[in-house]
Amino acid sequence: MTKYLVTAALPYANGPIHLGHLAGAYLPADIYVRYMRMKNKDVLFICGSDEHGVPVTIKAEEKEKTPQEIADYYHDLMKDSFIKFGINFDNFSKTSRHLHHKNARYFFKRLYENGYLEKKSENQYFCEKCERFLPDRYVEGICPHCKFDGARGDQCDKCGRVIDNVSLIEPKCKLCGSKPIIKETEHFFLKLNEFQEKLKVWLESKTNWKSNVREFALGWIKEGLKPRAMTRDLKWGVEIPIDGYENKVLYVWFDAPIGYITSTMEWAERIGKPDKWMDYWKGNDSRLIHFLGKDNIVFHAVIWPSMLMGINDNYNLPYDIPANEYLNIEGQKISTSRNNAIWLNDYLNDFPPDIMRYTLAVNLPENKDSDFSWKDFQTKNNSELADIFGNFINRTIVFIQKYNNAELNANIDLQDTDKEFLDIINKKMELMGKYIENYKSRKAVYEFMDIARESNKYFTITEPWTLKNDKKRLNTVLYVCLKAVTILSIASEPFIPFTATKIQKFLGIDNLDWDDYKNIEPLLKLTTHKMPILFSKIEDKTIELQREKMFGSKKEEQGDMIEFGEFKKTQLVVAKILEAEKVKKADKLLKLKIDIGCEKRTIIAGIAEFYKPDDIIGKNIIVVKNLKPAKIRGVESKGMLLAASDKDKKHLRVVFASDEANPGDNVG
Ligand SMILES: [Zn+2]
Ligand SMILES: [Zn+2]
Repeated sequence: MTKYLVTAALPYANGPIHLGHLAGAYLPADIYVRYMRMKNKDVLFICGSDEHGVPVTIKAEEKEKTPQEIADYYHDLMKDSFIKFGINFDNFSKTSRHLHHKNARYFFKRLYENGYLEKKSENQYFCEKCERFLPDRYVEGICPHCKFDGARGDQCDKCGRVIDNVSLIEPKCKLCGSKPIIKETEHFFLKLNEFQEKLKVWLESKTNWKSNVREFALGWIKEGLKPRAMTRDLKWGVEIPIDGYENKVLYVWFDAPIGYITSTMEWAERIGKPDKWMDYWKGNDSRLIHFLGKDNIVFHAVIWPSMLMGINDNYNLPYDIPANEYLNIEGQKISTSRNNAIWLNDYLNDFPPDIMRYTLAVNLPENKDSDFSWKDFQTKNNSELADIFGNFINRTIVFIQKYNNAELNANIDLQDTDKEFLDIINKKMELMGKYIENYKSRKAVYEFMDIARESNKYFTITEPWTLKNDKKRLNTVLYVCLKAVTILSIASEPFIPFTATKIQKFLGIDNLDWDDYKNIEPLLKLTTHKMPILFSKIEDKTIELQREKMFGSKKEEQGDMIEFGEFKKTQLVVAKILEAEKVKKADKLLKLKIDIGCEKRTIIAGIAEFYKPDDIIGKNIIVVKNLKPAKIRGVESKGMLLAASDKDKKHLRVVFASDEANPGDNVG
């Protein structure tokens, strides 16, 4: 059976995951993997954090931490957010691990021995004030290709092009802002020119690739490949396995793709079949598929294949590289420095994952840049997920529970209307599969919602509420509706997996394969329990709050490192106490339900000796919003209220906010 090794670009461990990352690589990869698993394909889904390179060291210098501390912190944060967002890699590794260093050094050594690496001196930016070379992101300036002001030493984020050595216009040292001088330094160069012809033939044969990816890579070849430096004057990274270069390390883009191999090896080790990674990397019938964003194309379609060819170790070359363009936010380019970004961990504090998964899937930048806006997010939730999808499922279930005592029988008599409707669903399911297999998730998610749209139409046309006296017809109509609900639970799984599970749990089914839509019969006996609401409406106020966070005067630094004990970054907000009760067997604790504007939370506060529940219900207090949740007496406490006490804790006063304040208002 064909094997599929699916990778998603290794994210730099210098910040949390944001929506741009999700739309570029992780969500499309996850949709594909979920679908392929439902088709019972042999799929392995691999990723890890990229801990080397200048983004991590710059962050470390900013925060006065070691690069490893920064990398560890963001590795854990990213891993946690991915899981909560439903993205479950088979292995999520770290490039700082010993095994990875070993693998990267091996690649380097092999390429050196095979004659594909050469020592050469080149000019580099050097900051006299900081007394150091300025590799990659340590220098910024104007892109010589597209004139974007803010390009890095090695690459322009705007046009995605790699920037030739010391060719930035008006270069500036990232650390001190001064103009660097140019100084010679010795590096190892990968002789890309030696792969020029082979790469051209290989890329030209990839007629199945997305044209933006193929054209981009071929454009590079057309310009003529030149040797590129694969080492850097840095201390953080993989050591060069050749004596005399102790002050240099491997270029992060040399070792990062090797991270996919390391991560696969780790997985194989973990499942107790240490050689199994080779089946995916070297097997005859294995397909290597790299999901990534536009800025990574050149590294995966030109440099990485050259490395794989050059080490001559029987590695497969990439089978496909379905790269996406960029996602903008509210019409503007994502910028983490200007805080025009939505961090996944922040998002997950305020909303369930599926709404964002759906909204992004509809707006994936598959062929051109696309846009995310909070208003659209609200519309997708309210008008599609709630009004179309949720509504159909809910009305079907309620009807069956009410009119047929939650039970249908298999004695059905399909009329043309029913057959036509089921036929439409079948066709759309088949179409969805084809789209996902060809990385067209946008089209697939459209068909998914269209099934729900058609289902509502069917419900309206057949008017089950008029069939009270025609039990046989009513049974048939509801049977068809329940079948549609069951199929919708299959169709929804790649896009909104948490909701799909909720529906299947309610229907009493699970582990459905994609192709089950062809012949599945619904379970005829439903529970009489109330169906959980799948999507609640999002109010304007909630959306305004999110926009305020990004654009308003209350703009906050989000997604940052609160656990590092930086009190200035704690978010203090007004909260209204909705409910208060004593915690059993804990005479000092009160359990409070509070409203912080965008959501309601439970917190545990040690104030029971000083305040009775009735005295504080309805009052406004001030809470620290962005703390890690803590379990106190078995209850999860999400936040901490501000209170003042004297030294021996005989007196304690809660800090109350004015009654006029609104929950969610920022304080300080
Ligand atoms: Zn550019
Ligand atoms: Zn400097």
